[in-house]
Amino acid sequence: MIGRIVGVVAMVVLAALLIWRLDVNGWGSLLWAGSGIATSVIRSPHEARNKQNTIARQDRQGIERVLLIGVMLGGSVIPLVHLLTGVFSFADYDLPWWATALSLLLVIPGLWLFHRSHTDLGRNWSVTTELRDDHTLVASGVYERIRHPMYSAIWLIFLAYPLMIHNWVAGFAVIVAFGAMYVIRVPYEEAMMVDRFGDEYRTYAEETGRLVPPLR
Ligand code: SAH
Repeated sequence: MIGRIVGVVAMVVLAALLIWRLDVNGWGSLLWAGSGIATSVIRSPHEARNKQNTIARQDRQGIERVLLIGVMLGGSVIPLVHLLTGVFSFADYDLPWWATALSLLLVIPGLWLFHRSHTDLGRNWSVTTELRDDHTLVASGVYERIRHPMYSAIWLIFLAYPLMIHNWVAGFAVIVAFGAMYVIRVPYEEAMMVDRFGDEYRTYAEETGRLVPPLR
């Protein structure tokens, strides 16, 4: 409860500071904050529920921790510090207002897919690469034709960052951080699924695309 109150107060203070800096950062900075808050709101009930899972297997937790810290730095800390202080302003670029508006074409479908993938995975979802005791293979809903719709959603949202934060460092850091996480994590996540589900996952993999549905 106290944690939640502290979180809400911190969010209100940050929102006030971002509004105070609106002239410098442009309204894309508010879209950025809004997209961050929306992803937390979408994820939090799933996080709370899945805390009760019994975990049967966790893979490469050391690497996972480093990758997650990278995404947190690139996606939250670096942009926020820049938007509040202008520390990377030497790397600013100008974009017309409609380029900022274009970010919504990525963020809105991204948030929808983020929500759907959490709902479809249900208790099988986890922040790190792990399997729970009663893990089931989900191959329906948004998982019917895509193996990693949650990562597709995250890509859509993160690719919008440079349209919302007009800075080569603060806008692109998350793309580098999530790119590293994606490239490193996906192969061992899929290997873990093959280990657990065998041919069921191999067949599923043949019928699906990683991030977008297969052309066939
Ligand atoms: N890579 C997926 C899921 C991300 S959450 C996506 O982008 O949508 C990570 C966890 O999801 C992994 O630890 C794995 O246990 C679980 N997972 C991944 N694909 C799954 C599937 N098709 N069915 C059930 N669980 C899955």
